[in-house]
Amino acid sequence: MSNIDPLVFPSYLDAESPAPWSNFVSQVESIKHHLGDLERWVESLLHPKRILIVDVPIIRDDGSVAHFEGYRVQHNISRGPGKGGVRFHQDVTLNEVMALSGWMTIKNAAVGLPFGGAKGGVRIDPRQYSSAEIDRVTRRYTSEISILIGPQKDIPAPDVGTNEHTMAIMMDTFSQGAGQTTSGVVTGKPISLGGSLGRREATGRGVFICAREAAKRAGVSIKGARVAIQGFGNVGSISGKMFADAGAKVVAIQDHETSIFNSEGINIAAAQAYCNSHKSLAGFEGATHISTADFWLVESEFLVPAALESQITDERARNLSTKFVVEGANGPTIPTADLILRDRKITVVPDVLANAGGVTVSYFEWVQDFSSFFWTEEEINARLEKIMVGAFDAVYKHSQEKQLTLRESTFVIACIRVLDARNQRGIYP
Ligand code: GLU
Repeated sequence: MSNIDPLVFPSYLDAESPAPWSNFVSQVESIKHHLGDLERWVESLLHPKRILIVDVPIIRDDGSVAHFEGYRVQHNISRGPGKGGVRFHQDVTLNEVMALSGWMTIKNAAVGLPFGGAKGGVRIDPRQYSSAEIDRVTRRYTSEISILIGPQKDIPAPDVGTNEHTMAIMMDTFSQGAGQTTSGVVTGKPISLGGSLGRREATGRGVFICAREAAKRAGVSIKGARVAIQGFGNVGSISGKMFADAGAKVVAIQDHETSIFNSEGINIAAAQAYCNSHKSLAGFEGATHISTADFWLVESEFLVPAALESQITDERARNLSTKFVVEGANGPTIPTADLILRDRKITVVPDVLANAGGVTVSYFEWVQDFSSFFWTEEEINARLEKIMVGAFDAVYKHSQEKQLTLRESTFVIACIRVLDARNQRGIYP
């Protein structure tokens, strides 16, 4: 808890293990004195607007009954409908979903999308269940949270453990209840159901764009640069491919089972193909297998954490050998480690900027669904590039001018946007 006011910490969370919500709170607290008059509203970011906890029962394939805990948190809707993904993972907790929803509020405002922040999750290990069972979980979860979601209210999307298929099932379930096909209720759908070209690649593309922009300003070349990636799901694999296509060498990758290293650069297409058929990189032959501890010591120019929260601890931060940490995951660096990286002059491009490409193309998908007019992949990628470069540039200039880290500047810019809307709207009644 350290610097967190116990009166502000919610009574419904366990104060003994306050992270990652407490990490989000410290990030907001650390910049509040840069908000001017809007600081009087800052506490509204420390209280999620709405939290729904649901029981998700299913009949298993063997006829038994299983129950799962599900959540949807709308952190803030001052600037528009709630927006954020749905996570299926065995470690999902209310605390985690709250933190993820808070980061969505900041992220959406940082890149100027007309959304608030929300997030959902189900506490389940999807690997332990059949696809039919997962579909039943998805349908019941969607039905339970349908009182909160809707194209103008709150729009879920994929996150860790969910994908296009999950979104198809969510869209269908919501549509059955509404009596009409409601494609705008979720994003990240298959193209045949109103999904957007470029959405699948968008988060990784945005990570790469941010890395490139940060490198450009530091006079570092992408060509020949060494990249280490933690996580080889959608974000890790696509950003890895984009780095490799630009002439960088992806020298190390860690997934949930193993860490691999190749000083000549890992063949990303081969690693992706292997991972698709074996569900992990364990046994992949195009690299040497190394320990988890050694992965964090690999020398690189770019480190891309693209897995889960709280991976860059103080100890790892002290020993990392890299120039840029580009956060593909949400919340991968804990606040105390952030200070260590700052002191070591390692540039951190924060999650709320670096991984905003996904939700940006989700916004394009939502707009296309409303207008029933679909854009080409070139148009989508060009618009994404413009938004990401513009947002990066604004954050970078602010950080130079105010002598802040990129995370602090992103939070300042985003909090001002959210709290200005909050201020203009006032308190009802
Ligand atoms: N889950 C992604 C994120 O954390 C995407 C959210 C969205 O597209 O709404 O940004």
